[in-house]
Amino acid sequence: MNKKIENFIGGKFQNSKNDTIPIYNPQEGNIITEVVNSSNNDLDLAIECARSAYQIWSKFTLKERAEVFYEFRNQLIKNLDSLSKSIVEENGKTLDEAKAEVLKGIELTEFACSMPQIISDEIQEVSKGVECRSSHESIGIVASIAPFNFPIMVPMWTIPNALILGNCMIFKPSEQTPIGVSKIAELLKLSGLPDGVFNVINGDKKIVKAICENEDISAVSFVGSTKIAKIVYKMSTQNLKRCIALGGAKNHLIVLPDADKEMASDDILASMSGCSGQRCMAASAMVGVGEVQEIIDKLVMKAKKMIPGKNLGSVISKNAQIRIEKYIDEAEKEGAKIILDGRGTKVKGKENGYFIGPTILDHVSPEMKIAKEEVFGPVLSIMRTKEIDEAIKIENKSKYGNASSVYTQDGKLADYVTEQVSAGMVGINIGVPVPREPFSFGGWNESRFGVGDITGKSSINFWTRLKKRTTKWNKGAKKNWMS
Ligand code: NAD
Repeated sequence: MNKKIENFIGGKFQNSKNDTIPIYNPQEGNIITEVVNSSNNDLDLAIECARSAYQIWSKFTLKERAEVFYEFRNQLIKNLDSLSKSIVEENGKTLDEAKAEVLKGIELTEFACSMPQIISDEIQEVSKGVECRSSHESIGIVASIAPFNFPIMVPMWTIPNALILGNCMIFKPSEQTPIGVSKIAELLKLSGLPDGVFNVINGDKKIVKAICENEDISAVSFVGSTKIAKIVYKMSTQNLKRCIALGGAKNHLIVLPDADKEMASDDILASMSGCSGQRCMAASAMVGVGEVQEIIDKLVMKAKKMIPGKNLGSVISKNAQIRIEKYIDEAEKEGAKIILDGRGTKVKGKENGYFIGPTILDHVSPEMKIAKEEVFGPVLSIMRTKEIDEAIKIENKSKYGNASSVYTQDGKLADYVTEQVSAGMVGINIGVPVPREPFSFGGWNESRFGVGDITGKSSINFWTRLKKRTTKWNKGAKKNWMS
């Protein structure tokens, strides 16, 4: 078994005597290590270290802080292989998917490094001889809480931006995938980040509650399921913190009959099965408008060629496997037609792994549970409509609103659909419409609580507060009742 995953506080890994939580390799089904389940005392120590680090870090210039992240970017590139392998080990996705995740982490770091170029504070002579100036100031100690599905990329949504803007952070990774963030902590230290600026507190919901209630933490960012996003958002804001909480998703791909059949079938498959469907941007529902049978046939043919354990990873846990298969069982009982069945998938040599093959259900009705709820597995539910407006109505009824895409070659129809769907990230002929830096990431409705987005330019407002300074040096400045 690998070394226990400890908390990283004040620039070093602690030697904790706390209880631990086992960490599984989802492709193998065996325990590979364990992670400490932190107590409130651990959080108190992290806060103490962050508080003193903040006195130093917040006084660095933006450019000086960016220097640390130039080096951090080099470290990510240097460690691309080992980071990717650790993602595969703790999360179960394929090596290619893991590499793409780290590469996206590098892109996020590059964006953060461009902050000195992006942030230009404002200055204006507001009345003769009187000047107003506004500056983005750090907010202090902030927290970031992450889900299991991207052990490195999702943490990188918040770490570089929040730190470069002068804050110190308490990071709480998923207790199912804590290895990636502990490696990030090591690389940040190696890159010259002062001790205490970045601290990792591991554990389960108890420590999340302690974070949301802690008086010294001024902002909480959360990524995870909608159920927990609501809890975290309520707890944090009740304790007078700013909070952005990203939740789950049910993303609809609306496929029109004129769609390019090869491209649409390739993309739909990649979207529903990438990372075994455990992406908040995964297509989990397809709404076929009119005659789209040929696209569905191509999709099924291509999906049959996927090889679990090779180009399809596992899901995260035995519980997840059971939950996903139950969704399929229930949909079958409700009358959906299973045209590709991934239940009971076993991979030779990895018989204890949590695999589910790509699964496609046709003739799903919008009232079925599988059409409404987030499944978070390699499962696509196909609904059929005669008219575009009917398809849009189905999408609009979803309580989520992360992403939605349309497949067509008709620009006017594409514009119509993207205008009508109720989602924060929309695509035209793109299966996974993730906005790339500097565009920001964030859904609508119950896929995101709070104001603004979590990445890109939008995140600057979340991680800073504006100081407005008014100056008059000139005694003879024009008199004005306001200044
Ligand atoms: P989760 O909500 O179970 O856990 C997320 C975090 O919340 C973890 O750190 C966990 O320890 C903590 N947590 C769990 N239960 C808690 C409770 N009762 N009180 C307080 N904290 C608690 O999510 P997950 O299963 O790790 O991740 C999958 C979910 O994340 C999916 O719903 C997926 O859509 C969502 N997700 C959303 C986005 C997005 O951008 N909207 C991105 C990635 C993942």
